[in-house]
Amino acid sequence: MNSLIRAEVSAAALRGNLARVREVAPGRRVMAVIKANAYGHGLITVAQCLDGADAFGVARFEEAVALRDAGIRTPIVLLEGVFTAEQLALAAQLRFDVVVHETEQLELLEHADTAQPFVTWLKVDTGMNRLGFRMDQFEGALTRLSSLNAVQEIRLVTHFACADERGSPMTGEQIARFNRLAHGRQLATSLANSAAIFSAPDAHGEWVRPGLALYGVAPFAGETGAGLGLAPAMRLVSTVISLREVPVGETVGYGAHWRATRKSRIAIVAAGYGDGLLRSLPPGSPVIINGRAFPLAGRVSMDMIGVDVTDGVEIGIGSPAVLWGPELPVETVAQAAGTIPYELLCAVSQRVPISVG
Ligand SMILES: *Cc1c(COP(=O)(O)O)cnc(C)c1O
Repeated sequence: MNSLIRAEVSAAALRGNLARVREVAPGRRVMAVIKANAYGHGLITVAQCLDGADAFGVARFEEAVALRDAGIRTPIVLLEGVFTAEQLALAAQLRFDVVVHETEQLELLEHADTAQPFVTWLKVDTGMNRLGFRMDQFEGALTRLSSLNAVQEIRLVTHFACADERGSPMTGEQIARFNRLAHGRQLATSLANSAAIFSAPDAHGEWVRPGLALYGVAPFAGETGAGLGLAPAMRLVSTVISLREVPVGETVGYGAHWRATRKSRIAIVAAGYGDGLLRSLPPGSPVIINGRAFPLAGRVSMDMIGVDVTDGVEIGIGSPAVLWGPELPVETVAQAAGTIPYELLCAVSQRVPISVG
């Protein structure tokens, strides 16, 4: 029997989205970013579907180890690098590429066993003020890295703060700063996340780093993946487990928050914040049942939501309920919840089984 709630992931959509990225950034190599359990889509599954990527990017060491344990042989980039000599040794053994963004990480490489030299991605902070050497530290870091036997190749990387705002002057400033440093050095470069792939073609560099776009989701507020030629890769679908008639004046759910202004029919769907739905989803947010949109009634609880299906006479116990997917963009749901689609996707919890089709 199918579980009540599940995340259906489309291999064809994932592959199609990778092809779409290659179309938008022709001739560039693609580091498919699959951190955070591939944005909730399942780390190993997604890596297997995206075997055409030139590299995978992850944030945590454990994610990279899990990929190798699963037999994935594609280059893997540790986007935050390593933090101990033990990790560096294991990274060499498992052939991970390392990002170097701190002097401590340079020192680890300086003391490394050189049997397996690394592809290193030197990260420069062009204005984000999160990770990377500051502009005035860059030259020194590059010189030190260049002299090391433990380093096989150096690539330059930076990250944008505002690429999801089309035409943001900040992106242009960051590109100009990065280009000043990279100019004339014959080193491969990487600047663009999903947003910059679509909004800043002059920042494609040798390597692009899409995450969200691979899952078929738009990084720009007010847009959807479909509008960018992408196909949503996940459908989060559950089931109606109860139906009740609620008389006028009675309330539904915790806090007695939602009150029936007419004789209402409420479908209880097995999906709650224990599955990753956000409690900040307000009443009225759309849920698709039997292919039609109905409004959320009352608060999201841990395991369930109520949906006002007064106008859906055909709905019964067992009817399928789509929380997001091709028929209801996760971008729309995120906007209703006052957040970004990244957060919704990453929040899909361990108890939601993922099926790939
Ligand atoms: C997460 C991440 C990406 C991917 O970002 P998207 O907006 O999902 O495309 C790219 N580069 C770095 C350094 C990241 O941390």
